[in-house]
Amino acid sequence: MENEPRYLSIKINEKDNVVVVVESGGLKEGSLLDIGVKLVEYVPQGHKVALNHMKEGDAIIRYGEVIGYVTKDIQKGTWINETITKMPEAPDISKYVFDIKDVQQPEPLEGYTFDGYKNVDGSVGTRNVLGITTSVQCVAGVLKHVVEKIKKELLPKYPNVDDVVALNHTYGCGVAINAPAAIIPIRTVQNLAKNPNLGNEVMVLGLGCEKLEPEKLVPPGKDEFVDYKNKIIRLQDENLIGFQAMVDSIMEMAESKLKRLNARKREACPVSDLVIGTQCGGSDAFSGFTANPTVGFAADLIVRAGGTVLFSEVTEVRDGVQLLFPRVASNEVGKALVAEMHWYDDYLNAGKVDRSANTTPGNKAGGLNNIVEKSLGSIIKSGTSTISDVLSPGEKVRKKGMIFAATPASDYVCGTQQLASGITLQVFTTGRGTPYGLPMIPVIKLSTRTDLAKRWFDLIDLDAGKIATGELTIEEAGWELFHLILEIASGKKKSCAEALGLQNDLVLFNPAPVT
Ligand code: CA
Repeated sequence: MENEPRYLSIKINEKDNVVVVVESGGLKEGSLLDIGVKLVEYVPQGHKVALNHMKEGDAIIRYGEVIGYVTKDIQKGTWINETITKMPEAPDISKYVFDIKDVQQPEPLEGYTFDGYKNVDGSVGTRNVLGITTSVQCVAGVLKHVVEKIKKELLPKYPNVDDVVALNHTYGCGVAINAPAAIIPIRTVQNLAKNPNLGNEVMVLGLGCEKLEPEKLVPPGKDEFVDYKNKIIRLQDENLIGFQAMVDSIMEMAESKLKRLNARKREACPVSDLVIGTQCGGSDAFSGFTANPTVGFAADLIVRAGGTVLFSEVTEVRDGVQLLFPRVASNEVGKALVAEMHWYDDYLNAGKVDRSANTTPGNKAGGLNNIVEKSLGSIIKSGTSTISDVLSPGEKVRKKGMIFAATPASDYVCGTQQLASGITLQVFTTGRGTPYGLPMIPVIKLSTRTDLAKRWFDLIDLDAGKIATGELTIEEAGWELFHLILEIASGKKKSCAEALGLQNDLVLFNPAPVT
């Protein structure tokens, strides 16, 4: 048939022997793809089609890499789904030898600034937030009560302060605090209090008998000594007689902090003062060629402008980590990257977790067969820049540039760990859709498909799905995201999740035993 309609499909790499169906709602049997392949069965949107006949055991290639093997002979035009594929082994990285000599310096990108809040410790915030941290979960109920009261009664009097945040968490007591792995939740709670958006004005609510002592959570003050007296309240303090006295004492300290925060002013700052986190959640087969490369392009621009970008999610990096090895800044950074992968392999092995644990039913429905395919699409968020440093979970950033911050892939755990590392804005991509947001910082959300951006018109900030249909190039979308980052970082605009007040809980990564 001459006038037979041809449907859009996406091939990522020349070597690929599969393409992905773009059409919303999928394509029925007999549909003809733009590349001349006829479907032998129904194929859902985002799912893969075989470009040629394959024999049992043949490799399925996407992103130019092996993402699996077919488990039976299949015809050209077959839907390649989880039921007929076998997952490859994770790459053996134990014997990799790093031999990094020259590191390419990126072409500087000049002329861009954002308006931020400068802190005494040299960091720069994108928001002006009163943070009240806690040394133990026991005080969370009291703090939630008081934060509501502060928002209602005090915050309207201090218009320069954006928000009041309770840094509630599940740590502090009933934990093996001296276990080696306890360093992760401990430094996470400590570093959350040092997030630049809290302006070094964080106050601490403790109980009085907990293992994690409140003094360990107080960020250094302006003075040479740390002013504990004006930063810590303990509910077991003998001067606090009854609940109302607790509430009054927290309100009084909060107001003194609000007064100081309210006096802060935004100033023009170079992009090198920006620390951005990247993450994906609810990924689909579009993630790897629409939203994630857009983030990667914008991330490279931030790095070229001297800024810092974190990428994370160990289980989504592990299966593509060999592609990152040539990008490390030094042999030491390479070894640190391998060490983080090994640490996580051991952690998962100790829990007898198999390799199918990451990839959700939603990922699979969206066309991602397994973690190998998901990883290859996920690491594209890191762009092409040199990887300047590797952080263990909850460590604070110490270098600029593109940084791998090891965290679980779980959205809210990764978000919490990146907040501790010091991000002041996060860029988040989603295919299936999540209303995710973080306290303290704005989260910019990109959709991988236009369907989602239309359905969630007030939850998605940028529709990268237009790349799949050819309405936008990765470069155009990347620049749009770069400008949006600077605008939102400057407080000239709120992200969708921020405007709606959507904030997930802080969820620590605690690999240590609970007693
Ligand atoms: Ca995630």
